[in-house]
Amino acid sequence: MHCPFCSAIDTKVIDSRLVADGHQVRRRRECVKCHERYTTFEGAELVMPRVVKQDGSRQPFDEEKLRAGMLRSVEKRPVSMDQIEKSITQIKSTLRATGEREINSQMIGNLMMDQLVDLDKVAYIRFASVYRAFEDVSEFGDAIAKLQK
Ligand SMILES: [Zn+2]
Repeated sequence: MHCPFCSAIDTKVIDSRLVADGHQVRRRRECVKCHERYTTFEGAELVMPRVVKQDGSRQPFDEEKLRAGMLRSVEKRPVSMDQIEKSITQIKSTLRATGEREINSQMIGNLMMDQLVDLDKVAYIRFASVYRAFEDVSEFGDAIAKLQK
């Protein structure tokens, strides 16, 4: 890539290491012209299945939406960004592992709940109450039972 400082075409890699549990490569680069240093991250862009919503409409998988939903649930809770990112990576690999080209939006919701129940009980209840809207008391009971396990 071109140098972000002077747009020179030639840059050299001065350091390269694995990050994010080996899912990314972090490279330190130096411009051969202006000698400014900067960092790039490289990761595989893997095709995610498309999401089928309850009304039957299809949407591309949206990682940002997933992240926003997780962050909303853990607001003011003792959960780190690192834990959130790990959960998202986990959810994505589970979705890819299905080998399906399309998945139900409900499956994503369930996977998010599986992650949240391990991360933080309050966040889990928050998410579950919004996600399921607790249509009846027994559903709420199910959520509580899952907590007690
Ligand atoms: Zn430069």
